[in-house]
Amino acid sequence: MSAFDGIIGGERLKAALGRQLAYGRVSHAYLLEGTAGTGKALYADRLAKALVCLAPGEDGSACGVCSSCALFVAGNNPDVIRVQPDGAKLIGVDEIRERVNREASVTPYAAARKVFIIRRADAMTPAAQNALLKTLEEPPGHAVFILTARPGGAVLPTIRSRCQTLNVPPVSDREAARFVSEKTGADYSSALEAARFARGGIGAALRILANERFSEISETVRGALAGLGGADIVDVYAAARKLSEYKDSAEEIVLMALLWYTDLLEFRRIGPERFMDRPGRLGDLSACRLTESQILSGAEAAAEAGAKIRRGANPALSIEIMLYKMNDERFGKV
Ligand SMILES: [Zn+2]
Repeated sequence: MSAFDGIIGGERLKAALGRQLAYGRVSHAYLLEGTAGTGKALYADRLAKALVCLAPGEDGSACGVCSSCALFVAGNNPDVIRVQPDGAKLIGVDEIRERVNREASVTPYAAARKVFIIRRADAMTPAAQNALLKTLEEPPGHAVFILTARPGGAVLPTIRSRCQTLNVPPVSDREAARFVSEKTGADYSSALEAARFARGGIGAALRILANERFSEISETVRGALAGLGGADIVDVYAAARKLSEYKDSAEEIVLMALLWYTDLLEFRRIGPERFMDRPGRLGDLSACRLTESQILSGAEAAAEAGAKIRRGANPALSIEIMLYKMNDERFGKV
């Protein structure tokens, strides 16, 4: 049992924070940095819960039953103050002064600590960051500040230097897929496809899986691509017609195509053992007769189509052109 049980991946980060809690060597300010969907808020929450628990375990994790834990779960523990941007609005200086600086100077109600969770700290105005800096420079002993931000965001170096910066790693596709398939009962192969789409974001993977059209489109794309590479032009046209039914999901189609070529390349270079967890995919992959240079140029055609669609080109037409390029046996040959 640790304060971070149930969070997927991030083993080193969980161990490092767990040790700090267990030995009571908690920093007065943390900056948790990670891309969208990596669980920064989850880490911040678990850390806060453990810090305000009235009867933490020997490892420093929250007991889950004390009044402070109960209030925390109910979302109204007065010793946990949460600040985050309101929609597209930045976090302004007044909010930091009133809800953070002033509150920080007041002793906690019940817990030994008062925790401030500032989500999207990179969305604070420079004036707000400077106001916060004053408190971070001379933090009251009972206060702990947990800031979360995306990497490369606009967190001032002065704020950063006052925080223990921790990198929240993205969850690997396979870790995400295992979790999602256990949680939803979806088969692992579809869960992995959704996880690769979501690029490590669990919430996004769950939403993708819930979309019935996802697996339908995915199967159609794989079916269309498997026949390419010198196929009769009539068949390519038929495949294009079929995919045009999903032109609202053109970007997804392109991404699915990229994943298909990535799978093919891994199958050739690493071998079938790479697909031990998805045996259903082996038939399609081993049946494909494309050369490695055709696979690479197919992926290139997909990337090209994706860029065109993002720039506003006609989606159905872009996909049709992509299919013709993928089918052209000379394409990609030097
Ligand atoms: Zn507790």
